[in-house]
Amino acid sequence: MVYDVIIVGGGPAGLSAVLTACYLKLKHLVMEACQAGGLLARNYPWKEVDSFIGFYEHTGKDVADFMVNHVKREGASIREDEVVKEITKNKKSKMFTVKTDQGKYKAKTILLATGTMGTPRKLGIPGEDNRNVFYSIEEPKDHKGKKVLVVGGGDSALEGAVTLSRAGAKVWLTHRRNKFRAMEKNQDDLKKTKAKILFNTELKEILGKRKIRKVKLINNKTNRESWLEVDEVFIFIGSVLDFELFEKLGVRMNKGYIVVDEEMKTNVEGVFASGDITGRLKRIPEAIGEGHLAVYSIYKYLKRPYWG
Ligand code: NAP
Repeated sequence: MVYDVIIVGGGPAGLSAVLTACYLKLKHLVMEACQAGGLLARNYPWKEVDSFIGFYEHTGKDVADFMVNHVKREGASIREDEVVKEITKNKKSKMFTVKTDQGKYKAKTILLATGTMGTPRKLGIPGEDNRNVFYSIEEPKDHKGKKVLVVGGGDSALEGAVTLSRAGAKVWLTHRRNKFRAMEKNQDDLKKTKAKILFNTELKEILGKRKIRKVKLINNKTNRESWLEVDEVFIFIGSVLDFELFEKLGVRMNKGYIVVDEEMKTNVEGVFASGDITGRLKRIPEAIGEGHLAVYSIYKYLKRPYWG
């Protein structure tokens, strides 16, 4: 079996792509390392999605379920919990071989829609392996009444601090600089909570074997050390991505993102990319548009239609 396209990643970009592949009758396969729905399903199942026109009062899990159910209904083939290990291209036949932890597949084109989630970046400080240190919020209500420290100054940290605060936790937010990089909406939401903000502050140590007893903070302007008693720590300082897959394939990257042209083509013939990994807005509507556009480009590349 040779697929027209193998889509790597089952988030909004990959799901939009596979819907388009079904529509255009392309033989396809989606490889998803975890569960279809991507970031929405895994990191924000509780969060109300607010940037996707026509969808309101729906959580990340709702929206992920809508998307997955829709594409499955149209006949999408999705392999979940299957990790792509290597993609190679045969120079002569121009055919791609996708090696996963479960098998080998052949395709005429590849669409990279892996997102930028990767694995959470760690601080690398003593005590970070305590079981009350988290890198995502599974269920905000579980943290009601808890004293929590959130670390970071981006959208994940601010959204996390706002969510935990609204869920009834007592929140401290530390950021290593004196300015957040999160978007204005999250900064405004944060101002409306009771969260205590500690700028120029770094978390240096977490004390306690099973339960956290206290955490050590350092003000990096004054070098002043302080201790804070908290029950839980949430570390939201971005993620670390593994680019080996792309690099081995020869895909050009710029500052951690795949470079694409206006048709979502990469520099490697037959390899396309869409969604957060192209490093543009990193929003659901854009990922959906890029996934859709990429598959039209793939169709044109494979079938050379009269309109292409
Ligand atoms: P991010 O934007 O990379 O922010 C990471 C934060 O952690 C930064 O404030 C950074 O500080 C800090 N940091 C990094 N390494 C650190 C270290 N070793 N020690 C202490 N602090 C450290 O990551 P993110 O917040 O996870 O967001 C990732 C992307 O997803 C962004 O593009 C974001 O806009 C997007 N996102 C969007 C939404 C939304 O649309 N609602 C929600 C979440 C995330 P500096 O600022 O000093 O560099």
